[in-house]
Amino acid sequence: MCGIIGILGNEAVTPLLLEGLKRLEYRGYDSAGIATLINGSIARRRAEGKLHNLATLIENEPLQGTIGIGHTRWATHGRPNETNAHPHANSRVAVVHNGIIENFQELRGEMEAAGHSFETETDTEVIVHLISDGLDRQMSPQQAVAAVLARLEGAFALAIIFAGRHDLMVGARRGSPLAVGYGNGEMFLGSDALALAPLTDRICYLEEGDWVELSYQDARVHDASGAIVEREIKQTALSGALIGKGQYRHFMQKEIFEQPAVIGDTLHSFLNPLTHTIQLPDLPFGLDDVPRFTICACGTASYAALVAK
Ligand code: GLU
Repeated sequence: MCGIIGILGNEAVTPLLLEGLKRLEYRGYDSAGIATLINGSIARRRAEGKLHNLATLIENEPLQGTIGIGHTRWATHGRPNETNAHPHANSRVAVVHNGIIENFQELRGEMEAAGHSFETETDTEVIVHLISDGLDRQMSPQQAVAAVLARLEGAFALAIIFAGRHDLMVGARRGSPLAVGYGNGEMFLGSDALALAPLTDRICYLEEGDWVELSYQDARVHDASGAIVEREIKQTALSGALIGKGQYRHFMQKEIFEQPAVIGDTLHSFLNPLTHTIQLPDLPFGLDDVPRFTICACGTASYAALVAK
């Protein structure tokens, strides 16, 4: 499970994005990156490996800007290298994505046939091409995103910025969580409230299928049908220092509700989406030679173990 953070702010955004990404490190990742707008143009820094590598790169090649998106990637499509690290971008739009676009091959084929050339092995890059294709057809950024969302299959959370639009960020969620943070004249997006904790304590969790337009002052949430909807803004008790319970009442509730995502994340690292096959890591023994398994568990896990038996 990778991490997303987006900040539409008034001060230098890169250190805040890096701090937010640090707070998402617990989710696991293999590379990281940040995109901002500098005088309206998209600029990016990305690095393979730990955040330290990205921070060092940014020390050597600073990244200005007051609006930006950051990402820690857990590769599902394409190697964990700098080219495949998010944000993915062209001169018009930059995107970070958590999850999987199931129908990316079909969409990529369509975009390639229309003359777009791809730089990465990821499923995510197709979103960049589809959105800029919409912009080329004179759609507004919001219209372009809505049209693309209607075509995507799979599970995702997205944060998107647009060249020339310091005042706009779009987020979307389907299957993967995404929270909106409300500041004073600033707005935020994050994979969870924890990433946003140092920035604000006013959080709204998007619901399944929602997408959101952020401006400096407000968030306009649309549901999957496009209708504008109200989502409750909650006061979180998370402090900047705390690894918290998110919107849950207690950690056990959090653990129970996170199980589908955790199992999905655990399994998806073994799925090859291109061949639709399961690829187990190399084991130091042949499974056929194992005479007996022992599963140790207590509580509900022991029932799961009995099912396995
Ligand atoms: N599917 C995307 C990729 O492989 C996003 C992975 C993630 O959730 O970090 O780049």
